[in-house]
Amino acid sequence: MRKYYFFLAVLFASCVTKPSNQNPQLLLISFDGFRADYLSKTDTPNFDRLIEDGVTAEGLIPIFPTKTFPNHYAIVTGLYPENNGLVGNNMYDPEMDARYTMSDRSAVENPDWYLGEPIWNTVEKAGKKAGSMFWVGSEAPIQNMRPTHWKTYDGRMPDEDRIDTVLTWMTRDKDPVDFGTVYFSFVDSRGHRYGPDSDEVVKAIQKADSLVGYLIDELTKLDPESKINIMIVSDHGMSEVSTGRKIVLDEYIDPGDINIISYSPALMFNAVNDNEEELYNALKSSENHYKVYRKSDIPDRYHLKNSHRVPEFLMVAEDGYTINTLEYFERRGQDYPNGGAHGFDNNNKKMDGLFIAHGPAFNNGIKMERFENIHLYGVMAKILKIKPAPNDGNPESVKKMLR
Ligand code: AMP
Ligand code: ZN
Ligand code: ZN
Repeated sequence: MRKYYFFLAVLFASCVTKPSNQNPQLLLISFDGFRADYLSKTDTPNFDRLIEDGVTAEGLIPIFPTKTFPNHYAIVTGLYPENNGLVGNNMYDPEMDARYTMSDRSAVENPDWYLGEPIWNTVEKAGKKAGSMFWVGSEAPIQNMRPTHWKTYDGRMPDEDRIDTVLTWMTRDKDPVDFGTVYFSFVDSRGHRYGPDSDEVVKAIQKADSLVGYLIDELTKLDPESKINIMIVSDHGMSEVSTGRKIVLDEYIDPGDINIISYSPALMFNAVNDNEEELYNALKSSENHYKVYRKSDIPDRYHLKNSHRVPEFLMVAEDGYTINTLEYFERRGQDYPNGGAHGFDNNNKKMDGLFIAHGPAFNNGIKMERFENIHLYGVMAKILKIKPAPNDGNPESVKKMLR
């Protein structure tokens, strides 16, 4: 009898100390450079399990330029580049008289570069908790705030450890986080090095799939009743580039006349010798496998030109082409360029990213058409039942995905 009471007491205590979390929770996962159609390249049983009773899309349309930093930050703010501040992986701000590169820690951690409100701030402002196991912007005190948990980017941190860390934050008894992020770079790296159609990319897709399997298994172990919503995205796709598709600037202009701010395939530069008209005419009259724009003529659909961080000229390479100076091409050797690149026009379906969502907030077995990644900020706010900050997205346009 005594034993029986003890058993009841333990059962009661365990119910009291670990109530299943009633607040909506969301885990945002990014596989950098995972092209939308990669899922059809090999068996992906774990992705398929989520898709079967969740949501997927034909493609997640990135913002232009289709680069890592602008897109990761667009996803968490719902803002186009001219409004979110990240108009490239590399930038120059004439007002700050400062340069931004993704390897410059002091720039990456400087909040002045990041405009708008990332979702983790929206979460924290609502009195909830956020934990970022890497995400562009999460290392800077944007609006003088930070997520409750965050980490300085370290590309060498093992992928399983990243999953363990974010799952611990989300399932702990005391103060579990309502919103978590986790980021993986290896699909992008393999895509750059070997090209999107390589066996190495197939192996990277299989690795991503097994990490999803690991995540589901660990989550089930930590919380068998888990109601965590999962949203898997990527920032952009990948195109094959080759030595036969070079655009050598020296054939049209004197490279000494320009100061390159951001690189191919979306090359941005300023004139340094007061010959803007001459530069433009030379490039425009030879336009072949690229487009050239003066800043004021950049197409509105890029949502780019209304930023003082965008320099005077933009050149956009045609799919698969690489623009650079002769000196650069010669320095990189005869085999350059090869493998894969991204940054091309965001109309190009090869730049489409991945979208898969699963959990109590999402509908079952829905396949959506391509949609723009800037809508996801509003969707995330809806799921977490918090008030979104003003943004460029419209969650109504993708409401089909939600229950
Ligand atoms: P890219 O292919 O040039 O657009 O950039 C991809 C690279 O961005 C990855 O290989 C990562 O190493 C890097 N990266 C991603 N997130 C961060 C971050 N928070 N801080 C610094 N580098 C990052
Ligand atoms: Zn990327
Ligand atoms: Zn990349």
